[in-house]
Amino acid sequence: MGLSIAIVGSGPSGFYTAESVLEKWADCTVDVIEKLPTPYGLIRYGVAPDHWKTKAVAKSYEKLALDPRVRFFGNVEVGRDVSVAELRQRYDAVVLATGCSTDKTLGIKGDGKKGVLGVASFVNWYNGLPSARDLDPDLDTESVVVIGIGNVAVDVARVLVKTPEEMAATDLMEHAARVIHRSPIKHVYMVGRRGPLHAQFTNVELREMGHLKDAAAIVDPAQLPAAIPEDAKAEFSDRQLRLIQRNIDTLKDFTKIEPGSRKKRVHFVFFSNPVEILGGECVSGVRFEKTRVEKGRAVGTGQFFDIACGLVIPAIGYYSHPIPGVPFKDGKAINSGGRIEPGLYAVGWIKRGPSGVIGTNKPDGDAAAGQVAADTGGVSPGKSGRAGLEALLAGRKVKAVSFADWKRIEAAETGRAVAPAPRRKFATVAEMLAALDAAPGAGAAPPKAVAQAD
Ligand code: FAD
Repeated sequence: MGLSIAIVGSGPSGFYTAESVLEKWADCTVDVIEKLPTPYGLIRYGVAPDHWKTKAVAKSYEKLALDPRVRFFGNVEVGRDVSVAELRQRYDAVVLATGCSTDKTLGIKGDGKKGVLGVASFVNWYNGLPSARDLDPDLDTESVVVIGIGNVAVDVARVLVKTPEEMAATDLMEHAARVIHRSPIKHVYMVGRRGPLHAQFTNVELREMGHLKDAAAIVDPAQLPAAIPEDAKAEFSDRQLRLIQRNIDTLKDFTKIEPGSRKKRVHFVFFSNPVEILGGECVSGVRFEKTRVEKGRAVGTGQFFDIACGLVIPAIGYYSHPIPGVPFKDGKAINSGGRIEPGLYAVGWIKRGPSGVIGTNKPDGDAAAGQVAADTGGVSPGKSGRAGLEALLAGRKVKAVSFADWKRIEAAETGRAVAPAPRRKFATVAEMLAALDAAPGAGAAPPKAVAQAD
């Protein structure tokens, strides 16, 4: 009898794990359990709406989901509808791939004020995560401070300053587009504690900031090194040094940009550590201490300055949301190379924390498959697996959304999109389920062929 494997979470790490175990065991069954009716995790709710090519990776996940050995159980939340212990009783291996969804907070005076919004909530809001639908951010301000100098900070800055025309061929949520495009935002400050050497941008994302229609990228040339200092080189690998050099070259190009008639500015501000959020009940600015970098660490200089703003978006990292029955520490599941205990594994961001790009999650799937092999010998003692889960869910009247159901939701989303937008996402789970009931072929057999994906 083949192994039965439950994967909790359908983001990149969940699907890469499915790929690895399907390759390893021809006779295994893989059930992907996802709390939302929609698959793909941050590919749908994190990756920026104007980065359509990045989202195309979902096509390869769809092929896996359509493998006859795989079943998608959408709209089933582990910890609410079924527990980890119940899954472990039924499956030979349970792999947690639930990501990191909770914002880290700044931990400075005033960071609870109205107008401080964690980047995960903000990104989820403009990308249509149902639980973020009612975030209602107040963008009635000319200046926004984004704290962090990585790709997510760049995404947020770009989405805030792009024109409606630049965002037309995207799936930016309507509720977000209305607020963003009406807002008087003129300045977005991206602020980092350390300098350009330690910024976490990929070069392609950074360069894009030099080609915006109505926004100019602004950098103070005094914050850029003439060359990477010799004493700093030991900190980085050759690959990192090449990226740092490209990023410094790009930032130098930004210093030559003539804003011309462009009305908006994205300011890259380095060597500045936030020490206090200013204002009364609502944010009115951020106080920063200037820093210098010593041995890779930002050290305060005792010099302070303020940036006035009405919105602060800390983009400084995320924690995993704890799952009952799973040991957590420092925002991650406690694991050794991915193994939490024999029979229970972690992959992706819940394993490693929020780092890397989509492809960084792939080796986690291989590692988990290797550990499952070591712990089971590839032999199933004959647990109830999928049939056991189905019986449990039926007993609790939990109706799972199948992959065929998801394809109908997706067809409804693409069907109601207004060109050139590729889709118009539903904003709530209720809308998704209603669309499913209304969709032609509701209750029909799953599709055999790979249909159009993201
Ligand atoms: P996730 O993608 O978060 O997937 C976790 C899944 O688990 C979700 O579907 C979630 O709904 C589900 N889940 C959670 N809890 C439960 C539960 N209790 N029961 C059932 N299901 C559950 N990388 C790039 O390469 N390019 C980019 O452009 C890019 N943009 C990004 C933008 C943002 C804002 C962020 C935050 C990240 C971005 N990344 C990007 C990184 C990339 O998205 C991550 O590396 C990747 O998504 C992590 O995969 P994961 O499977 O660990 O987690």
